[in-house]
Amino acid sequence: MQMTKIIGVYGASGFGIEVMPLIRIQYAHLNKQDFVFIDDNCKATHLNGYRVMSYHEFLKLPNKIKEVSIAIANSKIREVLAEKLIKDGILIASIKAKDLVSLDTVELGIGTIICNFFCLTSNIKIGKFFHGNIYSYIAHNCVIGDYVTFAPRVNCNGNIHIHDHAYIGTGVIIKQGKNDKPLIIGEGAIIGMGAVVTKDVAPGAVVIGNPARPLIK
Ligand code: UDP
Repeated sequence: MQMTKIIGVYGASGFGIEVMPLIRIQYAHLNKQDFVFIDDNCKATHLNGYRVMSYHEFLKLPNKIKEVSIAIANSKIREVLAEKLIKDGILIASIKAKDLVSLDTVELGIGTIICNFFCLTSNIKIGKFFHGNIYSYIAHNCVIGDYVTFAPRVNCNGNIHIHDHAYIGTGVIIKQGKNDKPLIIGEGAIIGMGAVVTKDVAPGAVVIGNPARPLIK
């Protein structure tokens, strides 16, 4: 019998296969066939036992309620797809791993994906379509913009503001800002893996190393 609700994970690739089990746990009352991968380029019909289909095929499914999580790390693609989904009346899923630690006054925007072993302490605001990969933390009084991406094991200390579309690489450590002067990572900045960020990063800058400095090509 056709269920009324279907859940799509957009992106049948590396991050998608990590997100699918999280969303299945979150919607434990649904059956495996109620979950599908959506991918516009994937040739396979199945991945890890789930159906794979294009967005066009997903739209044609008869299910009355369609909910989607965008599991694609590229934030600009995420933004384009998010606008398309919202325009088409698709519900946006927000995913929180069951073991997420979240303390007082934490605000999360729509479409966020927070993976396992993630810690959000207190007084934190996170914008829409944030991706927080495994083993990261965000400490007190941080403000994270829209479409921000954390690779695994990011150490984001207190009083840090990260603007829209910034990408924070694996194992990055960001120095704590001050109450009256937060450390700022500008819009679209890229922080290379393992960097130790000790001061503000300009919008669009690419920084690497310890202490983090602009990448000179
Ligand atoms: N993709 C898509 N529609 C788009 C853009 C990307 O279906 O408009 C899919 C793409 O085919 C790929 C996935 O999204 O399968 C992104 O996978 P990738 O390995 O590039 O990144 P990650 O899994 O790390 O986010």
